[in-house]
Amino acid sequence: MATPDAIVSVTGISRAYGRKIAVDHADLTLSRGCILGLLGASGSGKSTLLRTIAGLESVDAGTIAIDGQIVSKPGRMTPPEARRVGMVFQDFALFPHLTVAQNVGFGLKGHPDRDVVVANLLERLRLADRHKAFPHALSGGEQQRVALARALARDPAVILLDEPFSSLDGFLRAEVREDLVQALRDSRTSAIVVTHDAEDAMMMADDLALMDAGRIIQTGTPQDLYAHPTSVAAARLLGPLNLVVARVSEGVATSVLGRKAFSAPDGSAWMAIRPTDLKLTGPQDGIRARVVSVSFAGGFNVVRARTGSETLSLHLTGQAPPVGAAVGVVVDAERLMMLPVSCDNVRQ
Ligand code: ADP
Ligand code: MG
Repeated sequence: MATPDAIVSVTGISRAYGRKIAVDHADLTLSRGCILGLLGASGSGKSTLLRTIAGLESVDAGTIAIDGQIVSKPGRMTPPEARRVGMVFQDFALFPHLTVAQNVGFGLKGHPDRDVVVANLLERLRLADRHKAFPHALSGGEQQRVALARALARDPAVILLDEPFSSLDGFLRAEVREDLVQALRDSRTSAIVVTHDAEDAMMMADDLALMDAGRIIQTGTPQDLYAHPTSVAAARLLGPLNLVVARVSEGVATSVLGRKAFSAPDGSAWMAIRPTDLKLTGPQDGIRARVVSVSFAGGFNVVRARTGSETLSLHLTGQAPPVGAAVGVVVDAERLMMLPVSCDNVRQ
């Protein structure tokens, strides 16, 4: 997986804790200057993978290279301080008894230009007027910028962020996320961001890697993965999904949602569509269905409509029909996804 513009190349790494395989033959490439999102459910192995890159965990198989240098392989591991990585943890892990400036300069003891480097970073991350403050007096967003400044201080080749927003919520979360992306882009820092939140991952990342049960199951751009997942697990990680069984015969899949070309052997497959890609019309058109529930979700309504043995979920802006109404469901056929039935579906 070593490519010329790769700043981090992870090749076939595995890591087990006793009998528990936390990371299972994972491949990952971070291109220089890019932000790579690592998205997976809790327990899928994201933090373990990130910690192997940071040098906080050893590997049982495979190699990790940073800027062309092998830093991890079985039985050999360059220590964290000797790799050019900066790490931002979930809770920011600031030193409570040190000021903002002291926190940022912590890793620069003995550095001849320490004060200049710290002052530049504080300026860049809009923290200059807070340099004497202690962490407890900072907002969540400021704390995160201090953590990022501290990670950037030693001029790392790559910044690793583990669930950087999980201690923030709502409006603040969105604001901090934008700030963080801006700061990373301004400094052209290569970064890997671990998250279990699809929206965070898609809004931040140039490239995404999806992780499930220790394995990287698919990589690509957020747009590509959202529209063309290759498995049910990947499709589900990126957002809500309607999933129905289709019959495949002579290269055509047929289900309650419609027909679609699908080159697979005759048999069963999943046909899927996002709730945003279904619309409602009168009962004369579309798929005949009956509304079974309507829930207000702020900017849209979640409407569930039953047709035969399937219940479809729709996200509708504007007026929703009442429960019990006969409706027609219209499918955006371009957005239908075909997914193979495989062992990863059984666990869902
Ligand atoms: P994620 O960050 O995606 O939530 P983790 O990498 O933290 O996942 O964990 C992956 C799996 O490895 C989980 O089943 C977890 O319980 C296990 N695990 C992680 N760290 C340890 C550890 N230090 N000792 C034992 N098991 C661990
Ligand atoms: Mg984790």
